[in-house]
Amino acid sequence: MITGIKENLQKIKSTLPENVTLVAVSKTKPIADIQEAYDAGQRVFGENKIQEMVAKYDELPKDIKWHMIGHLQRNKVKYMAHFVDLIHGVDSFKTLKEINKQAKKHNRVINCLLQARIAKEDTKFGLPFEDIEAILASEELKELENIKIVGLMGMATFTDNQEQLQEEFSSLANFFNKNQENYPNLQILSMGMSGDYELAIKNGSTMVRIGSSIFGVRNYIA
Ligand SMILES: *Cc1c(COP(=O)(O)O)cnc(C)c1O
Repeated sequence: MITGIKENLQKIKSTLPENVTLVAVSKTKPIADIQEAYDAGQRVFGENKIQEMVAKYDELPKDIKWHMIGHLQRNKVKYMAHFVDLIHGVDSFKTLKEINKQAKKHNRVINCLLQARIAKEDTKFGLPFEDIEAILASEELKELENIKIVGLMGMATFTDNQEQLQEEFSSLANFFNKNQENYPNLQILSMGMSGDYELAIKNGSTMVRIGSSIFGVRNYIA
C-alpha cells in the first residue's frame, strides 16, 4: 500500500500560515513512516511515550526535533533530558523541578509548555488558569535555571461541536495573550490536532500537533 505520508504532509503544510509550526505526531508509527516524513522535509516530531521517543531518537537522524506531547511520568524524564527539544505537557511545579534537575545534568536548558485545562471533560490533564498564573509568578520558578517556559498547550474536548471547540480555543488564546504582556518568554501556543487544527489556528495557535491526518489512523489507542 502506498502510504501517502509525503502527500498528506504537503497538503497540510500548504494550508498552514507561516508562523505556525507543524509537529508531526508519530506515536505508535514505525521508523519507516517517520523516515518518509523526514525525507519529505519534516523535522519536528511529537511522541507521547518517553521510551518510544527514546527508541526512535536512537535510530533516526539527529537533526530531528523531538517534542514530548504526552502526560509526563516524572521518573522517566531522565531518559529524554539529553535530547528533547520541547516538552508540551507540563502540568505541575514538581515536574518542572524534575525537568530542571535532569536538564542540569546535561548542561541544557529545556524548553517547556504549561498544559492548560481547557476541555470540559474531566479526563483531560492540565492546569487551571489560576494555577498557571501562580507558577509563572512564583519566586521558586526563577531558581530553575535549566528550564524555560516558552508557552502554553491545550487539548480541546474530543467533539464535533464547533461552538464548544471555539469557546475552548478562544479562552486559552485570551489567557495566553493576557499573560504574554507580563511574560514575554511566552511565544508558543500549542493547540490543534487533526480534527480541529484549522479552528485552533483561527484562534491564534502557533503550533499544531497533527498525527492521523499525516500518518493515517492509529491501530491502537495511545
Ligand atoms: C495523539 C495526539 C495528537 C495528535 O492527534 P491526531 O488526532 O492524530 O492528530 C495531538 N496532541 C496530543 C497531545 C496527542 O496525544
